[in-house]
Amino acid sequence: MALPAWEVVIGLEVHCQLMTQTKIFSGAATAYGAEPNTQADAVTLGLPGVLPVLNQQAVKMAVKFGLAVDAKIAERCVFARKHYFYPDLPKGYQISQYELPIVEHGHLDIEVDGKVKRIGITRAHLEEDAGKSLHEAYPGMTGIDLNRAGTPLIEIVSEPDIRSAAEAVAYLKKMHAIVVSLGVCDGNMQEGSFRCDANVSVRRGPDAPFGTRTETKNINSFRYVQQAIDFEIARQIEVLEAGGTIYQETRLFNPDTGETRAMRLKENANDYRYFPDPDLLPVIVTAEDIAAIKADMPELPTAKKVRFESQYGLSPYDANLLTGETALALYFEDVVKTSGAEAKLCSNWVTGNLLAALNKSGKGIEDTPISAVQLAGLVARIADKTISGNIGKDVFEAMLNGEGSADEIIKAKGLMQITDAGAIIKAIEEIMAKNPGQLAEYRSGKDKLFGFFVGQTMKATGGKANPDALNRLLKEKLAG
Ligand code: ADP
Ligand code: MG
Repeated sequence: MALPAWEVVIGLEVHCQLMTQTKIFSGAATAYGAEPNTQADAVTLGLPGVLPVLNQQAVKMAVKFGLAVDAKIAERCVFARKHYFYPDLPKGYQISQYELPIVEHGHLDIEVDGKVKRIGITRAHLEEDAGKSLHEAYPGMTGIDLNRAGTPLIEIVSEPDIRSAAEAVAYLKKMHAIVVSLGVCDGNMQEGSFRCDANVSVRRGPDAPFGTRTETKNINSFRYVQQAIDFEIARQIEVLEAGGTIYQETRLFNPDTGETRAMRLKENANDYRYFPDPDLLPVIVTAEDIAAIKADMPELPTAKKVRFESQYGLSPYDANLLTGETALALYFEDVVKTSGAEAKLCSNWVTGNLLAALNKSGKGIEDTPISAVQLAGLVARIADKTISGNIGKDVFEAMLNGEGSADEIIKAKGLMQITDAGAIIKAIEEIMAKNPGQLAEYRSGKDKLFGFFVGQTMKATGGKANPDALNRLLKEKLAG
């Protein structure tokens, strides 16, 4: 009997930097990109005798996140010391949470291939980020930059509920949209504000026990996550099918090769010698605290999607696409408001032409060369029938080339739709005169030739004839 097919099991740990002005346990600034070590105060350096003071904003942000994923917020949570030795960790321990994290038992619904799937969130705990080792700047040496050390993070740990790289990416994108829309994280993956560790294992079918997992660390783009997981799946299956063993190890992804490689065997929790940090009091979150934070919650992507479907009559697919990114949803709503056009038309232009243009140039919505107001100007001219949708595409291209606003381009290129019946009839009559054969065939019942006449007349008017008027007048004229 053939063995059951391999099933993939994935659990993700997301590290999400919180957008506080200052560090989690000190008043040092958290801004990205400063000169190395200019944001490292005595607490960050772990000098003897200093004491950590908890940043209340970080706690509020963690609670906000917990509420957004329907999790349980701990009334009392505790900071713990996690010990390991590494040059970018001056104290020799990281302040994290272990037995009593601030957030537990949440979930996130993702959509893959039109199917909704619920991914469990085991926990999210508050912790401090480590510094950075700089290997390139000093040949033969390693520099240490402690600016990042002490930046607040939440580490969000998923249940091993994810079954493919595509589901993992959907989960991460949704998580990203949530933390950005909450305003707790800037979501900048290149700068490492949002990064993930992917735990991957394979097993022989859904009834087999979990296989041994590997953990690929610090992946900082959606595409890399996809690549790293796919690589790991293929590697593990190959090793196992050759009779080999998967070791529980930490691996590193190399974006240049698309491969992961072993870094070190994984520590067990007891190697970290966790214990409650005696310098910090337990954190108490009251029902009133939670109520106040709830009252301050923005609209979340899932609620937004539901609203886009009902308020704008969009398909679930379009609504999902438009609400996948907060900035994109804002852009779309701006176009609707400014153009006064039907939402469906606006959605078509945003999800179609605009996203295609952005994709092509590798840009995000933040860097769009066509602002919402500009696109609204174009959509409004299509809605009021100044131009047809087809001509709209040319105007769009011209806008991309920086040729001005839709109105300016329409005027400069004389693209106004021809609605004047006289002008259209003149064009029709010329085409009929030029094509007596087709005309005779049409009149003897070859209805299909109608399209030919539409095409010819449209061409003769430079694509500018109003399509409705053209159709109506052509039917009349061709009938004889
Ligand atoms: P660690 O401290 O070792 O990183 P955590 O419990 O914090 O452990 O996180 C483990 C992560 O690995 C979770 O996201 C969990 O869902 C996932 N995981 C656990 N077992 C497996 C497995 N067999 N295959 C894939 N992922 C797993
Ligand atoms: Mg972990």
